[in-house]
Amino acid sequence: MRRMAVVAAFALAMTAASAYAITGEKAEFKKVADDVYAFVGKLNDANALVVVTSQGVVVVDTGNNPPETRLLQQFIRGVTSQPIRYVIITQNHGDHTGGTPLFAPPATVIVHDRVAKDWASWKPHQIKSWRTRFRERTEAMKNVHPLDHVVSFSNNMSLKLGGKTIELLYVDDPHNPGDIAVWLPESGVMHAGFVGYIDRHPDIRPDYSHGTTWGMLRQLEVFSALKPRVMVPAHGPLGDVKDLHALTDYLLLARKKVLVMLQQGLPLADIIKQFHMNEYKGWDRESHFAWIAETLYRELQGMGPQLVTLVEERLSGTITQVGQEGRRLTVRTDASREIRLRVTSDTDITGAADRSQLKAGMRASALYVVPQGANAALGFDVYELGVAP
Ligand SMILES: [Zn+2]
Repeated sequence: MRRMAVVAAFALAMTAASAYAITGEKAEFKKVADDVYAFVGKLNDANALVVVTSQGVVVVDTGNNPPETRLLQQFIRGVTSQPIRYVIITQNHGDHTGGTPLFAPPATVIVHDRVAKDWASWKPHQIKSWRTRFRERTEAMKNVHPLDHVVSFSNNMSLKLGGKTIELLYVDDPHNPGDIAVWLPESGVMHAGFVGYIDRHPDIRPDYSHGTTWGMLRQLEVFSALKPRVMVPAHGPLGDVKDLHALTDYLLLARKKVLVMLQQGLPLADIIKQFHMNEYKGWDRESHFAWIAETLYRELQGMGPQLVTLVEERLSGTITQVGQEGRRLTVRTDASREIRLRVTSDTDITGAADRSQLKAGMRASALYVVPQGANAALGFDVYELGVAP
């Protein structure tokens, strides 16, 4: 209990200082060291890191959606005419990987082996979405598979380019989906990848598709030992080693809360209902509470990932609501059902340039998947979406 009280007091102190910390309405490109720039996504969208060398540019993560990736490209062009040689991916989620086809080919893409394995299993709609995501790249991407131009590694990797050292750090764990951090030892700058969270409730899920809290704690231990002077989080404003410690405290508190409820014999439904992290008021994404609780329920009992069967369904209807720049849609079907959909970077969209162009009132037809017996808190993932005005 003593430790919990200390953690809670720390959390409250920190919350007071950082309530509503969210990035600005426009993406920014900040110099954080000589030849090193952080791309800070707007409104807590995904961040990126850029290293300029005399032999080319290294980009770490690729922006939240096509307009943001183009902005990242413009920022880079504003500071150097060197070609973009490498794209490093810190986490295998669309808001970090989705801009890759703007740069590669000719850039080489560096991912962890587990990510390469996942890309090798992609379905046709994902490959098609990859090739057509940037209209200016349609010709260049014609027969390109996402795995073309990929180099992958199993443990750590050190990249030397134009006299600079870029370390790729992987912390092994059975459920790590291939998340890495990128460390620049000469300047003390780190892109902390998935565990780089600032003022945002982590997105961990019962199917362990985003890893586990245990795996995150192991990464945080390794990364914080390097004491980054500047920490680029996956999302949110720039921080430093203190923010890695803060997330460590957060995860320990979350685990403790669920452990206490398990010891009281509460069933899963009650744990989900009672779980909160209100000590961190003002943090983004309270919608993640249910998933955090259920993930911990499994992890703390030594259960493996929730195995989910996906059933494909189709709908046609009218878009009634658009949220988060087209990431969340509500569609009223022609049979008068309200269905919430989640548009990802893998969604193959026809009839609109990208998801930011989706609008209420458009006609929509969709192929989407319904997870059986699982909580699709953010809506059903869409494989194919066709829209018309
Ligand atoms: Zn993300």
